Amino acid sequence: MGSGQVTAPVASQSPEPYRFRGRRITVAGLGVSGVPAARALHGLGAHVTVVNDGDDERARAQAAELERLGITVRLGEQAASTLPEGTELVVTAPGWKPGKPLFAAAAQAGVPVWGDVELAWRLRGPDAPPWLAVTGTNGKTTTVRMLASILEAAGLRTAAVGNIGVSLLDAVLGDEHYDVLAVELSSYQLHWSSSLRAHSAAVLNLAPDHLDWHGSMEAYAADKGRVYEGNRVACVYNAADKATEDLVREADVEEGCRAVGFTLGTPGPSQLGVVDGILVDRAFVEDRHRNAQELAEVADVDPPAPHNIANALAAAALARAYGVPAAAVRDGLRAFTPDAHRIAHVADVDGVSWVDDSKATNTHAAQASLAAYESIVWIAGGLAKGATFDELVASAAKRLRAVVLIGADRALIREALARHAPEVPVVDLDRTDTGAMLQAVQEARRLARPGDTVLLAPACASMDMFANYNRRGEAFARAVRELGA
Ligand code: ADP
Repeated sequence: MGSGQVTAPVASQSPEPYRFRGRRITVAGLGVSGVPAARALHGLGAHVTVVNDGDDERARAQAAELERLGITVRLGEQAASTLPEGTELVVTAPGWKPGKPLFAAAAQAGVPVWGDVELAWRLRGPDAPPWLAVTGTNGKTTTVRMLASILEAAGLRTAAVGNIGVSLLDAVLGDEHYDVLAVELSSYQLHWSSSLRAHSAAVLNLAPDHLDWHGSMEAYAADKGRVYEGNRVACVYNAADKATEDLVREADVEEGCRAVGFTLGTPGPSQLGVVDGILVDRAFVEDRHRNAQELAEVADVDPPAPHNIANALAAAALARAYGVPAAAVRDGLRAFTPDAHRIAHVADVDGVSWVDDSKATNTHAAQASLAAYESIVWIAGGLAKGATFDELVASAAKRLRAVVLIGADRALIREALARHAPEVPVVDLDRTDTGAMLQAVQEARRLARPGDTVLLAPACASMDMFANYNRRGEAFARAVRELGA
């Protein structure tokens, strides 16, 4: 397709309002989504039981607090596997795997299961703001924050919500009034959502990730595709990633909803793209076959790496679908500053640029950041989460000056380098203690030449060596500074 209207049939209407009062509702999982969900449901007059597999000190403290309100809490593996008697609805933390016995029991009893997003959607009031939704394997947080920045620049009351900043439940139930919400949705959250209907939505890209949770690439893609269900104005897809376009084609949307692509090349009709360093819109303009609207310059996007320009185009497409003027796209992109550890420039030392992309925790993300530089000393490694590295290494081989490997699964990357980039020097650091990053940085400095970029884009999770990717990025930046920046 690539242009014009989505030809799928008309979506089903919004569900009947759910009456919570007096219902027996089981909340699966304490924690960031479970505790507020339990409180909210209790406040609406439901009889709430929370089940949680952990039984540690923190869980007990949370349980005690909820019990004081009159909410029942059951802790431990056994409790978390058993559907409490009389349950009429289960509200689950998004991360709970679909294979859990609790869900089998719910299915057997004919009890519906909602995630935190479905709950938030059902709790919206009659004048609730529309949602502009973003999902994808990588780039969600960045795109949603760019989108919020653009909407703000247009004078709209908005917030970036979902996995970031404000929780969806808070946004829906709080006193703050919003015109429109920029919503980040993970594949887990989408899996547990059934009636969500966004104004418009974007799937940024699709690459294998979290397959242990979803079971297969097909199941993962299908869950991502739910974000398009019932869209009213635009389904935004990545013209360079056919799988995202396929999801649009399969979606059941409102009559008149359009498929809008974004591309780093010259846009066709019904696309946003780039022409001579300018971001242009050929979708939301009069006579899109002949006209294009200038939105912003590539230089307005920070950082101007190709994948990040794609994020900016997706954000712009959603904003334009909502009716935002072109100047607000430019102003919003200019006002946007990227979150830490996402292609963050740390320092220039002796002509070498040091960049922290610790958030590149999978191969798809690392591939995007490696594509952004010409000559790279690459620091990589950590927990592979079942990934393979052949495609990544083969695509980056020509740009690699050298590689420094850290972390538990570094042998997997080393082997891929031996297969696809045998000429590239590799330093393999056989240590996972806290001093390893300093040594990695020292090695990288030795290997780098003026004009090179030393890029921390590990393609792996960090938990073998660090508490999280933030700590890993901080250790890198600290080590670079110690080096005499
Ligand atoms: P998410 O919220 O999906 O994890 P982020 O915006 O936090 O995405 O970016 C995570 C990492 O993914 C970044 O550090 C960068 O390496 C990579 N990335 C960002 N945008 C894209 C994109 N459009 N395509 C591929 N990789 C990307």
